[in-house]
This record gives sequence, structure tokens and C-alpha cells, in this order.
Amino acid sequence: MLRKALFTTALSLSTLLAVSVQAAEVNVYSARQEGLIKPLLDDFTSQTGIKVNLVTGKANALLQRLRSEGRNSPADILITVDAGNLYAAKSAGVLQPITSPALDAAVPAAYRDPDGQWYALSMRARPIMYHKGKVDPSELSTYEALADPKWKGRICIRSSDNVYNQSMVASMIATLGEARTEAWAKGFVANFARPPQGGDRDQIKAAAAGQCDIAIANTYYLGGMLNSQEAKDREAAGEVGVFWPNQADRGVHVNVSGAGVTAASRNKTEAIKLLEFLVGDDAQKWYAEVNQEYPVKSGVAWSETLSAFGPYKADGVNMGQLGVHNAAAVRLMDRVGWK
Ligand code: FE
Repeated sequence: MLRKALFTTALSLSTLLAVSVQAAEVNVYSARQEGLIKPLLDDFTSQTGIKVNLVTGKANALLQRLRSEGRNSPADILITVDAGNLYAAKSAGVLQPITSPALDAAVPAAYRDPDGQWYALSMRARPIMYHKGKVDPSELSTYEALADPKWKGRICIRSSDNVYNQSMVASMIATLGEARTEAWAKGFVANFARPPQGGDRDQIKAAAAGQCDIAIANTYYLGGMLNSQEAKDREAAGEVGVFWPNQADRGVHVNVSGAGVTAASRNKTEAIKLLEFLVGDDAQKWYAEVNQEYPVKSGVAWSETLSAFGPYKADGVNMGQLGVHNAAAVRLMDRVGWK
């Protein structure tokens, strides 16, 4: 009888991520889609014997879930994209500080939380992309210069409700201050070829199709299109060149995907082990090859596609600053009419 009761309890509990029936496991909430994380987690399990339970969802939904679950959350790790989202998770109190010499050695200080609450796992840049037939790279220099009336009706970029653009504007506020950034944004928005619509890939496609001459988009979208199964995507991407802006001053705007251990984690040791695995050479190489993201760890080889984009100087502003200035960036974009 007792044995049966125990068995029933174990069964019902095992349906919840909350309780580890086995000793070694780790529960992951991931805003990255399964295909972009699961193969790595499987490698981790086969190397360490630590089981990984994966829940995927949208970044905002997962953060909301962590908040409402509070101390009872089954999650040990939150994986998400964009420093703005990582900062929001820290601010919401759903992460905890950890110490790991391996993480500190692999992840440059600008790409991790000063308190150890989150660490970048991969990087992306948001450069200027241009139609090769219509723009000569010698005409390009900085993001700031895209506010010049010369670019009127020639720029495609997605809407201001997207965190990538919020972080880009936040990085400018961090360096230039709010007044200069707002003056720039006014001119920049006035040069839009169309009201913002679609995602980053759509901006690249619009530039390729002649709807605009300049597109602002994250590098992995172009990389993905260049390696697409669809000939149409490869052709469109082939029309577009990458220009690294602000190389003589602060550098191109970069952002990260990243992760942190949750405040509620019951498997902290395993969670830290998994984070360390994700910044190891093999996992870092995988990000570059499979998703055309830059490794966050130096010395790891870039994919052929990324190498072809060429080297660049990245903005050195600490990623946390993108979160600090997020609210100001959103208000500023609203004021200048960036839809
Ligand atoms: Fe993306």
C-alpha cells in the first residue's frame, strides 16, 4: 500500500518539471526556439549524464511565467535573446548571481552582468546593409550619417516595438546622450522608405527588391538567407552588402543571446555546469555554424559566411546599459514618430 502510494506520488510529480525524480537534472526555460538549442542540450546530457528538461516560449511570456511562479518555479535557467530582455529578467528579480571562473574567462566583461546574474552565449551585430547596385560603400560611414536628407525615402527598418531597435537606440543614448540621439532619430525616421513593417528578414528582402537602398538588420538573418534552402532567399541576400558603421569611433551596435540561473533554482550546480558547457568551444562553434551567430568566446572560429562579412569593431558599451536606457529609448522613438 505504502509502496503504491509512493509510486503514485512519484508519477504525478514527475509530470511537473518542479520535482527532480532523478538527482542530476536541470530545467531550462528558453526563448530560443527548440532547433537553436536542443542539439546542444542533448550533447550536454550525453557528456555529463545530466538530464535537461526544455520549455520553450516567447521571451516576454517566459519572463511573465517566472514572475508568477516565483519561488515555486521549476526553472533553473532562463535562456533568452537581447540584452534588453536579460536586463528585464534581472530587474524582475527572477535571476540570481552566480560565480564561475570558467564563465568569467569565456565571456568578456561587456557581455555579462556585473553581478553574475546573466552571461552572453552568442553575439550578433546590427550593421548597415545596402543594395550593392544602388549604394557604394564609400557613401556610408555611421548610423548618425543616415539622418542626412540624402537618404530620404531610402531606409528600411522594422518597428520600434521590437527590442532589437530599442537596444540600438539605447546604445546611442548611452554614448551620445538623449538629446543628440533624439535629434538623430528625427532625421533617421524622416528617411524611412515606408512605415515600419515585418521582421529583419523582410527589411533585407525589401532592399533586394528595390523598395529601399538601406536595411538595418541583425547579421544572422542575412547569414541565414545566404545559406537558405530557398534559391529566392539566397538571391535576395546576394544583392545586399554588409557595411560596418562607426568603425572610427564607438563601433557597430552589437547584442547578445544569453542566460542566467533563476532565483528559484533547485539545481544550481547543474545549471552552472550547463552554462559553462554553452560557452565551451564546441557549443560556441555550433552557434556560429548553425545560426550564423558570432561566438562570444574569443578564439573560436567563425563560419565561412561570417568570415565573408569581414572583421569589425564592436561597440564596447556594457550590455546592461541597453536595459538601463530601454525605457528612455522607447519614449524617444515614440516622440520622433518611429512607428
Ligand atoms: Fe532574431
